[in-house]
Amino acid sequence: MAKGALQPAQASRLNAGRTRVGPDLETVKATLFRSMGIDGVYARTGLYEDVVQALDRYITSKRPNGAEAFRFPPVMSRSMLEKSGYLKSFPNLLGCMCCLPGSEADVRLAIERFEQGGDWTKALETGDLVLTPASCYPIYPIAAERGPVPGKGYVFDVGCDCFRREPSTDLDRLQSFRMREFVRIGSAEQILQFRADWIDRARDMAVALGLPHQIDLASDPFFGRTGPLLAMSQREQALKFELLIPVISETKPTACMSFNYHQSHFGETWDLRDACGTPAHTGCVAFGMDRLALAIFVTHGLETDDWPMAIRDVLGL
Ligand code: 5GP
Ligand code: ZN
Repeated sequence: MAKGALQPAQASRLNAGRTRVGPDLETVKATLFRSMGIDGVYARTGLYEDVVQALDRYITSKRPNGAEAFRFPPVMSRSMLEKSGYLKSFPNLLGCMCCLPGSEADVRLAIERFEQGGDWTKALETGDLVLTPASCYPIYPIAAERGPVPGKGYVFDVGCDCFRREPSTDLDRLQSFRMREFVRIGSAEQILQFRADWIDRARDMAVALGLPHQIDLASDPFFGRTGPLLAMSQREQALKFELLIPVISETKPTACMSFNYHQSHFGETWDLRDACGTPAHTGCVAFGMDRLALAIFVTHGLETDDWPMAIRDVLGL
């Protein structure tokens, strides 16, 4: 068994209910990651990171003309995310920062409790930061600050580490993962054109990377009893598509990119309007960097030197 490989019981849990393709997941996990003691949060090996960085450069090479680039920290303003409506849709996935408040004496008291075997976390106070759940949330207020949206609209290239509270042993379901996005702000027609163009470009990118794939209508995992209804309405209006790749299962392929149309939701939320006062429409194409990197390794093997020359050329490896 490879160093750091899973015990058979853990491996069978990883594979439960999913038809395997490519190299076995045990070896994939042991080669690309190291445990950090929590499901879905992994140390990444240099081998894996080199591919993530190559992928990042490849996506940058596809940056739309005129796109303005921003990179965000892994945290953002709690009030801004609240205003975005995240708590209505995915409150169960949100991570919120908290810290020890008060004077040195207050903090010391909490730590002493810990040192005596007690629970120091009872003293924590909710902070003004949340862990960014998708890389496009911070861009809308930045765009809104500029005043009326120009006729040609905006295109942004954004990216950050994202967090979603979904502990899982599946390698394609991380709690902490990287996302790049191209975000379009403008009229409904501009957004729909952008999304249609990007579905075609994304297909071309998947072909260039030698990744088997399909594009499918999709929905988000909305929270609670009303969730299925919201998901159905999202599907009926064709607001979300995904590029799916058989990463760890043929029958349940993994969403590695998504193509989203938010209609006027962020336009109205942030008062992003054109010169006539009409709320802007927005849309984004999201690249799941960790899922794409995993897909490349699973498809082409764990030795980058053995990958087809054409794939290595595309990635500059
Ligand atoms: P969305 O906002 O559409 O849910 O996510 C955008 C992209 O982020 C997805 O297409 C996917 O590639 C990536 N992503 C979403 N959730 C996860 C996850 O749990 N793990 C990983 N590795 N990537 C994710
Ligand atoms: Zn987005």
